[in-house]
Amino acid sequence: MKVLVIGTGAREHALCRSLSQDPAVGELHCAPGNAGIARVATLHPVDQLDGAAVTALARELGADLVVVGPEAPLVAGVAEPLRAAGIPVFGPGKEAAQLEGSKAFAKDVMAAAGVPTARSYVCTTEQEAAAALDAFGAPYVVKDDGLAAGKGVVVTEDRAAALEHAVACGRVVIEEYLDGPEVSLFAITDGTTVLPLVPAQDFKRALDGDQGPNTGGMGAYSPLPWAPEGLVAEVLESVLQPTVDELRHRGTPFSGLLYAGLALTSRGTRVIEFNARFGDPETQVVLARLRTPLAGVLLAAANGTLGGLEPLRWSDEAAVTVVMASEGYPASPRTGDPIEGLDAAEADGTAFVLHAGTTPGPDGEVLTAGGRVLSVTAVGADLAEARAKAYAGVAEISFKGAQHRTDIAAKAAQ
Ligand code: AMP
Repeated sequence: MKVLVIGTGAREHALCRSLSQDPAVGELHCAPGNAGIARVATLHPVDQLDGAAVTALARELGADLVVVGPEAPLVAGVAEPLRAAGIPVFGPGKEAAQLEGSKAFAKDVMAAAGVPTARSYVCTTEQEAAAALDAFGAPYVVKDDGLAAGKGVVVTEDRAAALEHAVACGRVVIEEYLDGPEVSLFAITDGTTVLPLVPAQDFKRALDGDQGPNTGGMGAYSPLPWAPEGLVAEVLESVLQPTVDELRHRGTPFSGLLYAGLALTSRGTRVIEFNARFGDPETQVVLARLRTPLAGVLLAAANGTLGGLEPLRWSDEAAVTVVMASEGYPASPRTGDPIEGLDAAEADGTAFVLHAGTTPGPDGEVLTAGGRVLSVTAVGADLAEARAKAYAGVAEISFKGAQHRTDIAAKAAQ
């Protein structure tokens, strides 16, 4: 198979790494990619939001499968011209991707499908927002309706700050605060059949102890030793399958990766959000545990033949990933600094380094090129071992102003 992956992050590096280990994959391409992906795939400098350019590249390469990593190209409709050209694509079309592209749309789908989620109001004026904030009380949860790269949600005790965010966004969803631990559960679907992956947990705040601003994610681990037994089956039945069925009934089937962000509250499991693509950094740990070769699964989702697939096989091992971010992330990340120690981090095979914001420098060095720079990932017999190996990898790597959390998976590993 010839596979083309679209995107630039550590999620795409994780996808490319797994695809490169699949014996069915003969050629692997990525557009636009990064310095790490370049080691396993051929890079192409194509604008990932330009459906015509992506389709032209896929045609030129004779791609048998295109895997769209990030949400922005999906919401922009990059899957449509690919499908129109008869090229199998992993990722939903523009309309189904609204599940992530519009929080209000997601709420509407959940209401129609009977999926448990936070009670909410869609607000477009300051008066509506103020009334909704007072209806729910503190802590306040205000979500930008549109795509905001993980930065559109404000959770605060400060009513004035909540209202200010609502006014700045224009159209927002204001909802009740959900208490309880969060779980990310991914499912691969062809629009009818739904195959859940293993649960993971990510760390959204920038600093140890869940302090500091929200980020795209600072680390993740899997499995979740504390999660209730039967969680995956319950979420499949009450969340994933009804959502996929609802979108198919609406005539806009969702195929690709359905990501359910869940809160395990005292009143039961509730959906915090849906995403229309693999989550970053959870993908790094979920794929590290997947034993079934990846390409065939993604192709079956693209072709509508998931129902005929053997059950997915998983490693019993644990996986931990730690994100190394640049100075100033998330507000104003500093870029252009050389990264040292990448080979040393992988030298004894204990950790592997997935690149996010990196670019090759003029003299063969690797330079920082974004907020989240690397995901240092490791597997081990249990979370404590995986964690120790991942942090041993982190300790080898340095770049100016590098920051990471020191408590990824710490509690769960105890
Ligand atoms: P989202 O982008 O919707 O995942 O929101 C980012 C983060 O904000 C989530 O991972 C939660 O930690 C938090 N959050 C979102 N919605 C709620 C809610 N209704 N109650 C409590 N926390 C929330």
